[in-house]
Amino acid sequence: MTFGKGIEQCKQLKIRRVMSANKTALPIIFVAILSVCLMFLIINSTTSLLSFPVASLVPFVCISLLFIIILNLAMRQALTMYAASIIAFITISHFYIIPGLKETTENLKIVTDSKPLLLSFITLLPIFGLIKIPAHKILKSVIYLFGSLVAWGSFSLLIATLELPILHIVERALSGIGIKSPFQNLLLSPLQFVLVSISAMALVILLIKSLHNIYLFAIASLATLAMVYMSSLSIILFAILGSVLCLFSAIITSRNMAFNDELTGIPGRRSLTQYAQEISGQFAVVMIDIDFFKNFNDKYGHDAGDNVIKLVASRIAKTGNRGRAFRYGGEEFTLVFDGKHIDDVRETIEDLRVQLESYPMAIRVHNRSQKSASESKNRRYSSVKQEIVKVTCSFGIAQSSLGSNGFKAAIKRADSALYKAKKGGRNCVRTIE
Ligand code: GH3
Ligand code: MG
Ligand code: MG
Repeated sequence: MTFGKGIEQCKQLKIRRVMSANKTALPIIFVAILSVCLMFLIINSTTSLLSFPVASLVPFVCISLLFIIILNLAMRQALTMYAASIIAFITISHFYIIPGLKETTENLKIVTDSKPLLLSFITLLPIFGLIKIPAHKILKSVIYLFGSLVAWGSFSLLIATLELPILHIVERALSGIGIKSPFQNLLLSPLQFVLVSISAMALVILLIKSLHNIYLFAIASLATLAMVYMSSLSIILFAILGSVLCLFSAIITSRNMAFNDELTGIPGRRSLTQYAQEISGQFAVVMIDIDFFKNFNDKYGHDAGDNVIKLVASRIAKTGNRGRAFRYGGEEFTLVFDGKHIDDVRETIEDLRVQLESYPMAIRVHNRSQKSASESKNRRYSSVKQEIVKVTCSFGIAQSSLGSNGFKAAIKRADSALYKAKKGGRNCVRTIE
């Protein structure tokens, strides 16, 4: 029975591996096709850069590939999907929708003018980044895209019906009294300027929130460039570079998901395994374990326990002396000091122990009222209060030794040292040479 289960698990693992292989293969295929397109573009550029078949082939290939990326990204961030949708939309509208609309009616000209269109998208991209929509990822990106379309319509209409006539009146009034209009020869109209400023502020806020949003900033800058130097070539370049950025961000996000621990944000066990292969022959390794943590969980609850793990991790990650911190698993952490001897790190670890035992941590604790047995079970009757708690940790330090399995052996010895620390009363440091 257990044997059968094992085979089933192996099968599932295989399927998962094939699926993840597809996920990595997709971007590689994308980059390969893109390179062929670029080569094609360069070869043809000696005669006419956008002459047939390049003119029809490049946007078509770009758009098809963008949709592949959008589908691929749909599993991850809604905002990345939104950025990819924008790139696809701008490309499609420039090559197919706008020329068609321009031919059909003159009245639509102001709405089909690409500059307000692009500008509204570019400015909305970061602003949308600040809005949290409580919906499923795919639904969220649809809302983002639909919101942009509505905003594009209103934005173009505002310029056409409000801003332009007002600007004309102001200009006429100013020329009447002999003053030159300040609105002439401006790259952006006042309304556009306001929107770009709001967008810039939103970008700054996003960048402060997370450095990963830097790719959003890059996409917005690229789109601005494409808008200023409006041409088929700049739109194609924007689409290509924008997609590469989307892809880049997806790769970084997946890498972080794989190598960083989800709860604490510090590198996890996989990072430690990889680091073990890069490390030099001499190092000191420290195993750290929070004391009586089961009791802590029982007393304050798992959520409070999670918060404490996060706080302890952030403290350990700040250890000096060039130590690299990892979450080994559960309430255990590992510190690796590359090129160091036990004697070089003993003081650092003792300092860390003292810092942790005197580190006051504010946690939110559910304080259930004791009205009745049934009521006390109900969360609605529980109040949340803040409590200051402290925890202690035990430490085991070991030194590297020669051998092919040096790192694993050192971790094992550090574990034995940790066991000694636990036996020795906890909240102390023990070493094994
Ligand atoms: P000792 O001093 O001997 O280390 O005692 P201990 O209670 O810390 O050790 P034990 O191994 O018995 O229990 C570890 C506890 O850590 C059990 C588990 O509930 C808790 N724990 C492990 N990972 C997490 C986590 O991610 N979040 C929370 N809240 N608790 C965790
Ligand atoms: Mg433990
Ligand atoms: Mg413990």
